[in-house]
Amino acid sequence: MREFKLFIDGQYCDAASGETYNSIHPGNGEVIATIAKAGPDDVARACTAAQAAFDGGWGAMTSAERSTILARAAELLLERAEEFAQLEMADVGKPINEARNIDIPVAASYLQWYSEVTDAAAGQTIPVPDPGQVDFTLYEPYGVVGGIAPWNFPLFLGILKIGPALATGNCIVLKPASITAMTTSAVCELFAEAGLPAGALNVVIGPGSTVGEAIVTDPHVRMVSFTGSTAVGRRIIELSQHNITNVSMELGGKSPNIIFADADFDQAVAGAVFGVLLNNGQNCIAGTRVLVEKPIYDDVVAAVADKMASLKVGNPADESTQLGAIVSQQQFDTVTGYIEIGKSEGARLVCGGSVPGGPEFAGGFYVQPTLFADVTNEMRVAREEIFGPVLVAIPFEDEADAIRIANDTDYGLGSGVFTTNADRIQRMVRALKSGTVYVNCYNAVYPQSPFPGWRQSGNGVERGMAGLFTYVRIKNVIQDLSGQPIGWF
Ligand code: NAD
Repeated sequence: MREFKLFIDGQYCDAASGETYNSIHPGNGEVIATIAKAGPDDVARACTAAQAAFDGGWGAMTSAERSTILARAAELLLERAEEFAQLEMADVGKPINEARNIDIPVAASYLQWYSEVTDAAAGQTIPVPDPGQVDFTLYEPYGVVGGIAPWNFPLFLGILKIGPALATGNCIVLKPASITAMTTSAVCELFAEAGLPAGALNVVIGPGSTVGEAIVTDPHVRMVSFTGSTAVGRRIIELSQHNITNVSMELGGKSPNIIFADADFDQAVAGAVFGVLLNNGQNCIAGTRVLVEKPIYDDVVAAVADKMASLKVGNPADESTQLGAIVSQQQFDTVTGYIEIGKSEGARLVCGGSVPGGPEFAGGFYVQPTLFADVTNEMRVAREEIFGPVLVAIPFEDEADAIRIANDTDYGLGSGVFTTNADRIQRMVRALKSGTVYVNCYNAVYPQSPFPGWRQSGNGVERGMAGLFTYVRIKNVIQDLSGQPIGWF
């Protein structure tokens, strides 16, 4: 059985308390690893090491040197891609093909991109009225950044914090979710091998209520980048008031995926299914509410149900598996609980809704992909984030009705629109209140693209060039060129 440790000040180490816990394979319930369980003392040590690295070796490096290290780490990740894919598969329960084709190469591509933008946070020269003075801005790193990540794409979302933090010259103390910590721990070795100085990257693993809160309130930490649920995001914003710490929030969603009668039917059906089922629906931007224009509603519901029912749910390690396990017993209980809520609210179960039977599913947390039809936007299954393979279908009358239903949510992470009408596309992308809008596609991500959350899906922006500026703070400089004494005293 493997052991995964904390990574503090350039060294793998046990928790100060010596405590560990077990990591479970969600596909079969077996214990696959022991994980060091940090506490507040370990966080304090990690934050002190990060500050020392910022004040020392890492802080003194040029942007070109930072670039070389990040690019090498990306290369090393690709060289060891299969090993990381296997770890991610066993930790999250996602199909091996998804881990191989998405999680690991996408994480490496983001890291590579961050290596290319280490000098990109450029300031401005600002014209000021006094010709004897010049004003310019600098963007400088915060120093120590705290990162807190969820369990759904552990390595990818960890790299989304490590990459921009290090690219802009910060040091980082990162906490992965306890239930999926293996790849975040393992990746530190690659950064060390790539030449990252001790203390620039630290990984502490443990419960959010102790380790997470200790990161947010540590006096060295000047910015916290959080990805996770809206409820925990709210708690972190409260805690950030203590030290007036900057926070960047990437939170939950209940994204609408809108299909108009003039859409390319096959493209829209594929978009609805892939939109919700990537990573078994455990995806923040998942298109969990499919809104369908009435003339094609019955046909779309039938085609989506057929497609969902044809997908192979099974052992995540199996090459032919399309949907693996739900990440944990707790999340399994949440998802199956929402399926019961949907039934009791009067939604029509069209497919799935059950736990697959058979010896290959023994001990694992499996749920059949599930479609509810004739859902109203007031039902809990249409309003609350389920975070599993559950899609709700809602009919709509016309464009105005679609916009009204789509925007009637507390969230604002993503939206999808399927239509062949070019004028309608322009109206819809402006009317939808979400940080991302997909048109005739869904779930695409690129390092260059910003990923903002609107309303209760987040604040600020991560990813893309706009997201790079989340990791730096602005400094304004006014310099006198006239040589004259200043003031009126
Ligand atoms: P979560 O909010 O329960 O946990 C996220 C992280 O926060 C974990 O590391 C957890 O240990 C930590 N945490 C928990 N309590 C804390 C506290 N009091 N202080 C500090 N840290 C604390 O989320 P989850 O269940 O791991 O992940 C699923 C959620 O993440 C969903 O809501 C999903 O939409 C969201 N998510 C959002 C994005 C995005 O980019 N917007 C991406 C992926 C996931």
